[in-house]
Amino acid sequence: MTDGPTLNPFEISQRQLDKAAEKLDLDPQVHALLREPMRTLEVHFPVRMDDGTTRTFTGFRVQYNDALGPTKGGLRFHPDETIDTVKALAAWMTWKCAVVGIPYGGGKGGVICNPKELSVGELERVARGYIRAIGRFIGPERDIPAPDVYTTPQIMAWMMDEYSTIVGYNAPGVITGKPIPLGGSLGRGDATARGAVYTIIEAAEALGIDLTKATVAIQGYGNAGYFAAKLMAELAGSKVVAITDSRGGAYVSDGIDPEAVFQHKRETGSVTGLAGGKAITNEEILELDVDILIPAAIENVITEKNAANVKAKIIAEAANGPTTPEADEILYKNGKYLIPDFLCNAGGVTVSYFEWVQNISGYYWTIDEVYDRLKAKMTSAFREVHAMASSQKVDNRTAAYMVSVQRVAEAMRLRGWV
Ligand code: GLU
Repeated sequence: MTDGPTLNPFEISQRQLDKAAEKLDLDPQVHALLREPMRTLEVHFPVRMDDGTTRTFTGFRVQYNDALGPTKGGLRFHPDETIDTVKALAAWMTWKCAVVGIPYGGGKGGVICNPKELSVGELERVARGYIRAIGRFIGPERDIPAPDVYTTPQIMAWMMDEYSTIVGYNAPGVITGKPIPLGGSLGRGDATARGAVYTIIEAAEALGIDLTKATVAIQGYGNAGYFAAKLMAELAGSKVVAITDSRGGAYVSDGIDPEAVFQHKRETGSVTGLAGGKAITNEEILELDVDILIPAAIENVITEKNAANVKAKIIAEAANGPTTPEADEILYKNGKYLIPDFLCNAGGVTVSYFEWVQNISGYYWTIDEVYDRLKAKMTSAFREVHAMASSQKVDNRTAAYMVSVQRVAEAMRLRGWV
């Protein structure tokens, strides 16, 4: 742990845990085990490139804690991937699965690569090469990957196929976020955003905010950001007035049309330059005078430098790790209602769990069954965290940690680990 501000995501995750551990008066032996990942794997594997040369790629898989069940969590294909980011994300997956009460531990993986610079064939060979490298450490009862930044259902399909080839039988439950014909679940595509919107609806009710009159700004227009824009309009009746992607974005006072923006991004590669919009940067969007701010892109965007300028009443963290601990304190002091990442974006892994249940039982659900069960899980998780924050007089992130850490610690005690 460091004394001053830090932007190392793993140290941030440890500092968040330390804060909750102190409030919980957590057994130091349990705390020590929870501060580190159970297992960290680094692999280097060969990939044949289109020009006939062989390139070595580096990948990671971290299994953080499996007291509650097999480890679960996404895979990122990112040029700047580091082991510390993967460790932090694996820790957050542990708390995420625990807060929604699904029988998994937390894991995460990544490959250092830039998918935008790879051909489809190269991308497939990276995906298959990574699975050959980590194959013996994953499995439906062991560790179950899923999509995350720059990984897609098609990549999950290649990975499932490679794993099935290695073990010699069809194993759809080894990975989630698959295309529907290969055992993917209905409703997985927009699950992260849908879950986030369910928590925003709960938060607005708790705060007495009328969502049909609310304005929304969304940073990031990937899977979570795009569906969040669509569903804030459809499910909550709110007006999305600003969006950005990695290159910047636009403010449209009359509200954006999520489909038109999606089209525009498909045609131009970005959400910048929207007709009728005023250009804004990724910094400006965080400080807009809106009711709800949804960071749906990357880590460490709300920091001690800009937290005091955040005007939104509700900050719903659809991304993983968008707020630093210093910013958390400022937001809490300023009376902002923050829905912490591992609660807010738990809809994705919750429907991944539904997918895995359907795969291992071989019986598939209707879309309404998925939505109803997702809503029930997100709503009860939100209410438990909200009640913890009120009764313990702590910020929502610390409250969410308290709920999750208690559950993981209890499982560790029952297993006789401590
Ligand atoms: N990558 C998503 C997350 O961070 C989903 C993980 C999963 O479905 O296992 O929650």
